[in-house]
Formats: sequence, C-alpha cells, structure tokens
Amino acid sequence: MNDHRRLGRELGLFGTDPLIGSGLPYWPPAGAAVRKAVEDYVHELERRHGYQHVNSPVLGKRELYEKSGHWAHYAEDMFPPMMVGGEEFVLRPSLCPHHALIYRSRQRSHRDLPLRIAEIGGMYRSELSGVLGGLTRVRAIQLNDGHTFCAPEQAAAEVSAALDLIEAAHAQLGIRAVRYRLSLRGEGAKFVDDPGMWQRSEAVLTEVLKQRGRDFDAEPGEGAFYGPKIDIQIADSAGRESTLSTVQVDYYQPGRFDLGYVGGGRPVMVHRSVVGGLERLMAHLIEVHAGAFPAWLAPVQAVVLPLSDAELPAAEDLVRRSVAAGLRTELAPAGRGTLGARIRAHRLVPYQLVVGPREVASGQASVRSRDGGQEGPVPLAELADRSRPRF
Ligand SMILES: [Zn+2]
Repeated sequence: MNDHRRLGRELGLFGTDPLIGSGLPYWPPAGAAVRKAVEDYVHELERRHGYQHVNSPVLGKRELYEKSGHWAHYAEDMFPPMMVGGEEFVLRPSLCPHHALIYRSRQRSHRDLPLRIAEIGGMYRSELSGVLGGLTRVRAIQLNDGHTFCAPEQAAAEVSAALDLIEAAHAQLGIRAVRYRLSLRGEGAKFVDDPGMWQRSEAVLTEVLKQRGRDFDAEPGEGAFYGPKIDIQIADSAGRESTLSTVQVDYYQPGRFDLGYVGGGRPVMVHRSVVGGLERLMAHLIEVHAGAFPAWLAPVQAVVLPLSDAELPAAEDLVRRSVAAGLRTELAPAGRGTLGARIRAHRLVPYQLVVGPREVASGQASVRSRDGGQEGPVPLAELADRSRPRF
C-alpha cells in the first residue's frame, strides 16, 4: 500500500501549512471534491436509513462538558477553555452533548422513538504535535456522527441497523476492515464508575455481534468513558491499526442530560459513526485505491482531450455539457503535449474523452475508460450514471 502523505501531496488532496499549525490540514479543490462526494453519499445513505440531519456549533460552554461528563473524564484530550464575556467556551471534543440537547429541545414520546439524528461536524482534540503526521492524527476532525435515541428494548436492533449501514458504506467505498473490536472499560478514573451500567451495554453489543455471526476481540481499556463500543478497525500502509467506524450503547449521557419520553422512562443513546472522521477516512481511501478512486469519488471524473487546436471549440462545448450532466470534468488542450502524454498525465481519471474530427462531426465523445480501455462513443448521461454511488 502507498503512504497517503506522499500521494496526498502529489495529487493535491490535502495540505498543511506551519502558519495554520500541525495537525490542522486543509483540503484544496481535488481533496475537497472527494470529501464532498463522501459527505453527499453518507448523507443520502443515512437519509435512506431513517436519519434526519442537524447542524450544531463547534463549541459550547464549559458547563455543557461538565454535564456530559467530558470535563471529568476526557479533559486531557480537550483544548483549554476560551474566556469570552465572562463565560468559558470549549472547542467541542465530541458532538454527543449537542445532539442530546437537540433531543431535549422538544417533548418526545414513545411514538417518536427511535429518533435518529446525524451530522458531519467539526470536533477537536488537543493532540501533542509530536504524534501528528498526515491525516491520521489531527487536531481538527470532521466527524460523521449520529445518535439514535431509543427505548431500551430497541437498543439491540438499532446497533444492528448501524452495523448494516457501516457494512454497506465500507463495500461502496472499497474499505476492508481488519477486525471488529469490542472495546471495554479499563481501570481508573477515565471510565465512569458504574459496573451495572457497563454490564448492560456490553450485553447488548455482544448479543448483536453474536447474532450477526461476527468474530471479535474483546479489549479492556479501549471503551469510551461512558460505555463500551464496537470498533471497526482498519490498517494503514505500515500495518498500524486504527478505528474507523464505531457503534456504542450509552446509558450514561441520557441520565446526565435528564432525557426522557412520554409514556416511558429514559431513552438509550446509541452513538455511531459510519465512516469516522473524514481525515482518517481520506488517508485510508488514498492508500487503498492508490489515488485511483472509483469514478463516483474521483476528484476529476472525466478529462476532455482534443486531438488538435482545431477541435478546441468542440472540446470546450463537451466540457460544458459534461459538467451540466453532473460530471467533474477538466479540459486538457493540445498545447499540453501529445495525446499519449496527456493520457498518461490523466491516467487516474476514470473517463478520457477524446475529440477528433469524427467526434466533432457526430457530436459524441469517444470514451477511453481507465478500467475498460477503448469504449467508443458513450452518451454523457450514461457516464454520469456510472459515476454515482450505489445504495
Ligand atoms: Zn456520540
């Protein structure tokens, strides 16, 4: 596998600048296009699975994190508070507290459950600069997060539904998980001290994994401070393992925020991330696909190659029509070198549209595909359809 840092720089997928700071990557156009494709895909996948999307701010008052338990159990990973107008604000270490407050903002009844909300939003971690490198350990994370608020008897079904979503997304993205980990409570003050609560959530997660016939390794000390997790592990080009997707059963934060519903008691919060933080996901996608992203993810999906300057007006027209058909399309005019050289320069682009005198006459593009070689004339609508994710 390739190192994502080298390929990411070469392909203009992400960058860093000492003036912004280490662990704070930015996304130039090529990387931003891939990221947008992932965001659109995940949004649509979640929508089809009954989620509603929300947006919430990237910071909150210190009291919010005292209430959620982050302040007591997670403070060493958080940025220090900022004082504004006599109040202390913290860059959020997770989206959960905001989502709990969105749940609490209206009266909920048993009929509203399970209530599934999701967001791709910023969260922050005060990593030490020594461990930063590329996209895998960052201080600013764009997290694909979501929470299901459900009745206790619905929790197992919700965990299983979240795993369905994760497995569908992995298949579409070409991600290969190395193993499933059941991350449990460890020793010490990092973890909420309520053995009965841990036992109950562990029982739900274990039951679901067994139902699905999934092998897993139980690992004490890797849980969240409020509960155990199913972590879906991936490996980077050097074989180092990290967590991409996760599902967690939480009986703790609903109590801290005093969540309830009419006709019942306390909802359970099922936390889940389908594709994790977009930075780590991007690092993995770069390495897995070696820069040759599937068409729906590719930064540039089609390149138009006029044989000579005589075909330039027709080529420009084809670019316009291709963009209108929904494809991310670029022009590589004859001035940039021979046709062979231009094809090689765009070898990672899924569709190469060559325009010669014959294509000018017919008004159709002759397609050379990265995977299939010479295809002859293909309508733009068909190329656009091939360049969409499947659900
Ligand atoms: Zn959460």
